[in-house]
Amino acid sequence: MADGQGSDSDFRRIFGIETEYGLSLTGASAPYAAGRVAMAMFRPLIVKHGSTNIYLPNGARLYLDVGSHPEYATAEARDPLTALTQVLAGERIMTDLAERAGKRLAEDLGRPVKVHVFANNVDAQGHAFGCHENYLLDRRVPLDMIGACLVPFLVTRQLITGAGRLSSDGFQLSQRADFLDEAVSSATTRARPMVNTRDEPLADPERWRRLHVIVGDTNRSPLATWFKMASTHLVLNLIEQACRRGRRPDLADWALADPGTAVRAVSRDRTGRVTLELQDSTKTSGISALGLQEAYWSACKALVDQQEDIGVDRSQALRALQLWRAALDALDAGRWRDLADWVDWAAKLRLLRRLSRRGAGRDLDEALDLDYHDLSAGRSYSGLISHGLMRSPIDDSEVQRAMVQPPQDTRARLRGDFVRAADRGTRTWSCDWSHLVLGGSHRVEVDLPDPFDHLGPSRYHSLMDFLKSAAEPGA
Ligand code: ATP
Ligand code: MG
Ligand code: MG
Repeated sequence: MADGQGSDSDFRRIFGIETEYGLSLTGASAPYAAGRVAMAMFRPLIVKHGSTNIYLPNGARLYLDVGSHPEYATAEARDPLTALTQVLAGERIMTDLAERAGKRLAEDLGRPVKVHVFANNVDAQGHAFGCHENYLLDRRVPLDMIGACLVPFLVTRQLITGAGRLSSDGFQLSQRADFLDEAVSSATTRARPMVNTRDEPLADPERWRRLHVIVGDTNRSPLATWFKMASTHLVLNLIEQACRRGRRPDLADWALADPGTAVRAVSRDRTGRVTLELQDSTKTSGISALGLQEAYWSACKALVDQQEDIGVDRSQALRALQLWRAALDALDAGRWRDLADWVDWAAKLRLLRRLSRRGAGRDLDEALDLDYHDLSAGRSYSGLISHGLMRSPIDDSEVQRAMVQPPQDTRARLRGDFVRAADRGTRTWSCDWSHLVLGGSHRVEVDLPDPFDHLGPSRYHSLMDFLKSAAEPGA
């Protein structure tokens, strides 16, 4: 084991998802700007915390930057299922805020109004907003290997993880495809990369990176959200394994000649047959999107077969491989409808087809395309749920719990417990992903540099003892 570096077989990972939501208000007598809806939603937080940027007792971050897209960033999780639970808890928290805001606005405006929260990625003005996936990654993976080995996977996984979008070009698999250009870059405003390389590991920088994937759609299907993380984890394992041994990963053979063109082409072809040009054209002139997904599946299958410890429990890895296999077989056979119970674009396309059989026009299609993503008032997706037509890997009770409880096996547990205790006290406090601060005359700061440390340094326990004793009557 080299100094400051992890062991070669350390496949532990941290998963976190940031979701930005779209907002609108219906029922008002005049157009009501989304920014005002956002302020109404965050009003209770401003009253309580004096801020629109807070951490919650479940370890998550809830915030509103300038603009009208509130964001929920999930607490650090060690596996995709826990991360999914946190994502769904975030949806509930967002819709609860929307419901409260709707009631208040109805009183203010003197008429019944409804706040809509959209889990999509393109707003009515054609601006894209995000769903960022965060993966802790071994620092020994050079960024050019992310471009060569991960980007072809990200470009083609939309065949399974795309949320579907009705564009002026017709139905597309992905929401974001038309809003991306570069593959790997540090910019997010000027250029729109698929992977952002801003170097903020939120962990020991000698050992880790935080990979910031911004190419993905926000999924409504919980199974799709889970699969997106589980499959990406396996591909990252392959890349890490090779790079730790100082080898070029075999996956680098699939580096794409032009990822920006490829992502748009894949999004427009639900057969998966479109040919993508490779950087190295000496072996083959190109490969289909499905062919690339096959190559990734085979490599991940071999990894899981050969290696006992894959960083998450084997059942999740095996389930991901199985779902992935079934999806590729269905797509290969042209049976996309078989995927409509968990692949968002297929679920949406089936609804659109049903609508068109009833002779609906473009306006209704567009309304459905939006309604599918409406968390608070949508009828199409909730109709699928109530008819038992969407699969989910978790129970509602787990989501309810995750609204108040952080993952127990990461530092999120320490943060969550701190937030809950500090919130009850009278002293000012603040925190971020890797620090806790209790203000006042004796300011106390605790660093939490290791995201895997769920037990905490002794300083943390002194702080918590202090908070608890201060909360006791007569203290
Ligand atoms: P933005 O993109 O909105 O400007 P950001 O990506 O820097 O901001 P946040 O919105 O605060 O950051 O979200 C950070 C996400 O990273 C959270 O989901 C969190 O759980 C996750 N995270 C925290 N520490 C790590 C880590 N060491 N490795 C991977 N993910 C992490
Ligand atoms: Mg963020
Ligand atoms: Mg981000």
